[in-house]
Amino acid sequence: MTTSGSATVTRLCPTCRATGPVTDDTVGTLWIENGVTIEQFHAADCADYLAQHARLMEGAERARLAEERARELFPGAHARFQAAVQALPAEQASPFAAALAELVALQARRFHGHGGFVPLPEWAEVLDRHFPAVSDTTRASGRVR
Ligand SMILES: [Zn+2]
Repeated sequence: MTTSGSATVTRLCPTCRATGPVTDDTVGTLWIENGVTIEQFHAADCADYLAQHARLMEGAERARLAEERARELFPGAHARFQAAVQALPAEQASPFAAALAELVALQARRFHGHGGFVPLPEWAEVLDRHFPAVSDTTRASGRVR
């Protein structure tokens, strides 16, 4: 693995105090902290390592569930957005302006913060908030009679 020329710092685990290199009984972990690559070795059964691994797996599962929810939510929210845009009298543009302003603000924070683009889960949340699905009970209560 290359580190783009930056230094790698080895940090001793306070729990197992394992040292490198990786063997059948040890594992190595790498992460970036303030632009510096940190490596740390652990005994394969180190409580710190097992907790770190569990947190990584929980984070990956949360990301997977968020992506799955977004893939379910986005098509409907996007279709409602497009339908609303097409049916819009010019004087009722405020929800569109609000949604666009929120998305632009989110994206602007990405560029000025850690970079990257607004991911699909956030797009879906913003669109669903400004253009919520009309529930069956609302529809049945008379707005569409
Ligand atoms: Zn350890």
